[in-house]
Amino acid sequence: MNLKNFIRDIPDFPKPGIVFKDITPLLGNGPAFAHTVQLLADVGARHKVDKVVAIESRGFLFGSAVAQRLGVGVVPVRKKGKLPFKTFSATYQLEYGNDTVEIHVDGLRPGERVLLVDDVLATGGTVEAVAKLVAQSGAHPAAAVFAIELEFLKGRHRLAHLDVVSLISF
Ligand code: AMP
Repeated sequence: MNLKNFIRDIPDFPKPGIVFKDITPLLGNGPAFAHTVQLLADVGARHKVDKVVAIESRGFLFGSAVAQRLGVGVVPVRKKGKLPFKTFSATYQLEYGNDTVEIHVDGLRPGERVLLVDDVLATGGTVEAVAKLVAQSGAHPAAAVFAIELEFLKGRHRLAHLDVVSLISF
């Protein structure tokens, strides 16, 4: 099954010059979604992870399914101010300004091995910050998986300490 056939390009969304990779055709196709989740979960199984960390918001769609497949818990990472309990936070640079991501302080236990899950690897800034949150929690970020990688942005170069796996490359 060629998963690339289930990704739709949306030019100039959310702003001019960006080609948005729309994953909704993939999510909406049972066999394609199941195949994607299985391939992402295989990486977690190889690393014997104890938890999945899913990144807001499209990462939640894949992350919770992957965790369920692996039989482990899922921990959400959200944008600043969304999580109700005490949090660790990490701030990272965007093209203009910066952004902050947060995780509950008790989401991960020290020593746990963690699989990071998101839909798209672009510049890698988000996942780099999420890996810092995992480390702040005393856990070990073992691998990061994505449905899609925008190779020309070289995001994986920022994640040299992680096993980075993507299923579809552009
Ligand atoms: P980055 O921190 O640059 O790796 O950006 C990753 C986040 O931005 C991911 O959570 C993606 O959902 C989103 N993202 C970045 N570029 C795109 C794109 N071209 N199409 C869809 N989502 C994108």
